[in-house]
Amino acid sequence: MTTALHAGLDRRLPALLDLYRDLHAHPELSHQEFRTARIVAAQLREQGWTVTEGVGGTGVVGVLTTGPGPVVLLRADMDALPVREGTGLPYASQRTATDAAGREVPVMHACGHDVHVACLLGATAQLAAHQHAWHGTVLAVFQPAEEVCGAPAMVADGFAERFPRPDICLAQHVAPAPAGLVATRPGTFMGASDSLAVRLHGRGGHGSTPQATVDPVVMAAATVMRLQTVVAREVAADRTAVVTVGSLHAGTRENVIPDTADLTVNLRSATPGTRAHLLDAVERIVRAEAAASAAPKDPEISVITAFPMTVNDAEATAVVQDAFRSALGPDRVIDLDQPLTGSEDFGAFGTALDAPTVYWTFGGLDPAAFTGADLLTEGIPPQIPHNHSPLFAPVPEPTIELGVQYLLTAATPWLTHPADGSAGTEAPH
Ligand code: ZN
Ligand code: ZN
Repeated sequence: MTTALHAGLDRRLPALLDLYRDLHAHPELSHQEFRTARIVAAQLREQGWTVTEGVGGTGVVGVLTTGPGPVVLLRADMDALPVREGTGLPYASQRTATDAAGREVPVMHACGHDVHVACLLGATAQLAAHQHAWHGTVLAVFQPAEEVCGAPAMVADGFAERFPRPDICLAQHVAPAPAGLVATRPGTFMGASDSLAVRLHGRGGHGSTPQATVDPVVMAAATVMRLQTVVAREVAADRTAVVTVGSLHAGTRENVIPDTADLTVNLRSATPGTRAHLLDAVERIVRAEAAASAAPKDPEISVITAFPMTVNDAEATAVVQDAFRSALGPDRVIDLDQPLTGSEDFGAFGTALDAPTVYWTFGGLDPAAFTGADLLTEGIPPQIPHNHSPLFAPVPEPTIELGVQYLLTAATPWLTHPADGSAGTEAPH
């Protein structure tokens, strides 16, 4: 890490680590990132960025321009999860909050979005401190509600009209891998995730006289079983496809046949064709099972969330991979051989703003925890706490410092021009 953009990061680090631990101890649920957004906006202003708050809810956008040149969008998500922290860390969350359904829930930064915020604020500080070393415009996007697909709300809030159009969108996610490793791939990085709510209508009555009812419990049971055939019988074996019925609620007691049954269904897919097939198949089966039961009313199917695919632009990903390899050394940069099974809403920016995107993950755990593990062939050992676990605990050092460096390293090819003698590889434009 020798480029001008990285100079002085070591001096900034103690404050950045304090900020990280403060964010970790004060997590906020999706769409409730008020404190986090205030801290972000205050720090960006102090660094000299032009700041817009309240974009798509609690979103914060910082803009810094040093003159003509490419526009680089760097994005961090800010929200935490309804998880009770079990790490026992001195800065562990003790917080609770009221969720969207009005329930009091524990809150934890169990996905590491506090890492992302700290890393991006470190990168923005470096960019502001070294404006002589780069040319162009950076958009620092602090996004709400990634866990419930908040990116489209920022887009819908006039993002394209209010801010310069990016030439490249970059984002990163901390992963349950050894600190020091980064991983990416061209093409599909993560698949789509669609969540649906299904309400099946029956006709309730006495448990002793089922002939006078249409039992939505049996209808729901048949639907759940039939849905299992979509992946098993309709999708080719070499395609990524998952259909999970994650919740099923009906009735109150054993001798009352209820009126309705409610299911929630989650679909995962890695190509647009498979995604369309899964959505069509679920609707077809839900409607057909209702018809088979002589339901008095059609089922209702509504979308809970629709995470797009995360697709890395091949050319831009090669530029970022080269930058990582020359900055970090080739053995720290993993070229993933297949997409990850999680999902992200980051793709909404590239699609809406017509810009290429590059997304990568980076290790955030103590390398000592992986001694003897063969990560490349076996993947992450199952006993390692993953994102969303109450035990997920990134090590602040060196994770935060490295996360800042990854953002700066990935942005450098766009922000530095060989013509003016500043550091960096050839600009890809
Ligand atoms: Zn998450
Ligand atoms: Zn996450």
